[in-house]
Amino acid sequence: MSDAPDIRFRSDMTVELVKHSAADTDVLWAARVSTAGEQSLDELEKDPQRSRGLINFLMRDRHGSPFEHNSMTFFISAPLFVFREFHRHRVGWSYNEESGRYRELEPVFYVPDTSRRLVQEGRPGKYRFVEGSEEQHRLAVETMEFSYRRSYEAYQEMLDAGIAREVARATLPVGLYSSMYATCNARSLMHFLGLRTQHELARVPSFPQREIEMVAERMEAHWAGLMPLTHEAFNANGRVAP
Ligand SMILES: Cc1cc2nc3c(=O)[nH]c(=O)nc-3n(C[C@H](O)[C@H](O)[C@H](O)COP(=O)(O)OP(=O)(O)OC[C@H]3O[C@@H](n4cnc5c(N)ncnc54)[C@H](O)[C@@H]3O)c2cc1C
Repeated sequence: MSDAPDIRFRSDMTVELVKHSAADTDVLWAARVSTAGEQSLDELEKDPQRSRGLINFLMRDRHGSPFEHNSMTFFISAPLFVFREFHRHRVGWSYNEESGRYRELEPVFYVPDTSRRLVQEGRPGKYRFVEGSEEQHRLAVETMEFSYRRSYEAYQEMLDAGIAREVARATLPVGLYSSMYATCNARSLMHFLGLRTQHELARVPSFPQREIEMVAERMEAHWAGLMPLTHEAFNANGRVAP
């Protein structure tokens, strides 16, 4: 058998903002074309703080299209089960993910850290998550690590026997880390955040899986830095995408 790369276990999600063209002024000139025509471009030179009220009005009354004239590209590293949920978001998103056909997948796997609530109570639609005991946490981590090691060994055994990567990968579990570029605009990101975060200001509560929420929180922090007034209006209007 060839030398297997060292197996790694992670609990974190990483989100890097690799490219962006996104500012509050992008919302303003797009909205002002309705009434100002080509003069709407003057907005680019103005202090967007003066137009805070307009951004809030657009958000409140759900005039959504002015929030689409911007772009953010993120590089995200997260387990496959997170990407499976992520890729359900179809509108206003572009994705490119690493391939399990063209490269050998790295042995990096997800294990929950102690902050991850482990025990689910209640019934569908009314779930609540509570802390697990130390024993439950130990069991979860040990069981996952055991299973991941065995799965990755099986993957390597097949590769060593000359079986194609695209076939051998069937043995790998959804806790395997993958990476992707995801490009969106503020409107599609707000729709994603409304569904994939749990937030006290949300008018319509959502109950996302914690791991995709961790990704969403990091994306939101990047976006809030780029478009602070739009972010503020999103929160002030119940975190509902316009
Ligand atoms: C807490 C939670 C639990 C979930 N549980 C499940 C589950 O058990 N099983 C499951 O399969 N999925 C589940 N999902 C996924 C969910 O059903 C959506 O697929 C996902 O949230 C993407 O939302 P979206 O379709 O609104 O987003 P997008 O695909 O980005 O669409 C954005 C908006 O565009 C419009 N739109 C897009 N496509 C169409 C279309 N074909 N026709 C009409 N309008 C369209 C809609 O207004 C939509 O809201 C869950 C999601 C969440 C947040």
